[in-house]
Amino acid sequence: MRHVTTATPVEIGIDPASVELPDIDDLNETSRRFETRPASAIVAWAYDTYGSGLVLAASFQDCVLIDIVYKTVPDVEVAFLDTQYHFAETLWYVEQVKARYGLNLNVIRPERAPDDLWHNDPDACCRVRKVEPMKRALAGKAAWMSGLRRAESPARAATPLVSFDASRGLVKVNPIATWSDADVAGYVKDHDLPVHPLSERGYDSIGCWPCTRPVGDGEDVRAGRWAGLDKTECGLHL
Ligand code: SF4
Repeated sequence: MRHVTTATPVEIGIDPASVELPDIDDLNETSRRFETRPASAIVAWAYDTYGSGLVLAASFQDCVLIDIVYKTVPDVEVAFLDTQYHFAETLWYVEQVKARYGLNLNVIRPERAPDDLWHNDPDACCRVRKVEPMKRALAGKAAWMSGLRRAESPARAATPLVSFDASRGLVKVNPIATWSDADVAGYVKDHDLPVHPLSERGYDSIGCWPCTRPVGDGEDVRAGRWAGLDKTECGLHL
């Protein structure tokens, strides 16, 4: 199966002629090979393959993947999109995690973004506050890692471990794609990781404050994101 994204390079502002295509069959085979391997093995493979061309994009709703990555390859760059609409608790948590691991942290902010865009046009808001800044964060890189998991929502149920992000012309690595919610909770407990203050108040998935609410019993982890709208993703992972 060919794992590619649906947005095009043109839509995301990248010249298609500059996109170097990797061997998709090789990537798919690598993804299959890692299905039963620990996340740290995938991280080690990604670093061996892409070196300083590898970036970890972190949302800082927890620090599970950061812990795995920093115990495996401590000097990896971490990108954090400061949308300017994060909860104060998230910005506090970023500082705690940064200090704990001595992160090589790159904080990227939007260049221009009207204040009320989230209310009038959330897709446009995500474009200027997330998708465009991510393009700058990944400029010149070869591969990026994210904490996407199949268990988070039906839309993420087929997330591969390794794929080609055709919209950005980069390889995308999701080391904990196979993890359940219980796997994440167990890792946090076993490794005594710092916990985002809002996760103890029912926020199972944490994004910008105007677009995030706590999750009720029996709801998907991401049910509190853009609740009431026909929108389930910000565009970073489409
Ligand atoms: Fe804007 Fe909401 Fe998207 Fe954040 S999640 S960038 S506030 S629309």
